[in-house]
Amino acid sequence: MGNTPGREEMDLLSEEIRKCRRCPLWKEAINAVPGEGSVDAAVLFIGEAPGKREDQTGRPFVGRAGRLLDRLLRDIGLSRETVFIANIVKHRPPGNRDPREEEILSCSPYLERQIRIIRPEIIVTLGRHSMRFILSRLPVEFGRITDARGRVYAGVLFDVPVRVIPTFHPAAALYNPAYRAGLEEDFRTVQRELHDNNQEGR
Ligand code: SF4
Repeated sequence: MGNTPGREEMDLLSEEIRKCRRCPLWKEAINAVPGEGSVDAAVLFIGEAPGKREDQTGRPFVGRAGRLLDRLLRDIGLSRETVFIANIVKHRPPGNRDPREEEILSCSPYLERQIRIIRPEIIVTLGRHSMRFILSRLPVEFGRITDARGRVYAGVLFDVPVRVIPTFHPAAALYNPAYRAGLEEDFRTVQRELHDNNQEGR
């Protein structure tokens, strides 16, 4: 698995991201956070941008929100090794501000290339910014995250047929039990979609 062409391509892409100077975000960042996981993953999780701990470590979703994500994955029989976890923007915006439109435009071609390499069956967007970015490109109509979350949106994204399931960002669920319950419910939807697809493939 470690020597598949997809793995090599992803490793080269991660190197390219680490050297990237396409927008100013690299200047105040410690590390780029290209993303990590299996290039053969059936499920790709997409957040918005790295935070402080991610910037320090170069890894996506570490710290408390990351631990919650790990637990949610484990509860539906998945792990960091079997999925792929990435962000739209690969360097941390200073002070955790929202990435600017031009930064998203500069950086998102990397995510597009990651999606083309992985060709996931399911994309789970974490938080409203990620949801907006992906669903508007599917393209489908959608409302607020509280309405869209847990729904399954089918379409073709960057030539890859996918089902997109939006949910809350795990960081938002740390302080809001309702969001936590919503996340758990939406992860069960991911599990069901994966299971149904495996049944159909038999
Ligand atoms: S945020 Fe993206 S576009 Fe900007 S420097 Fe980093 S990798 Fe390049």
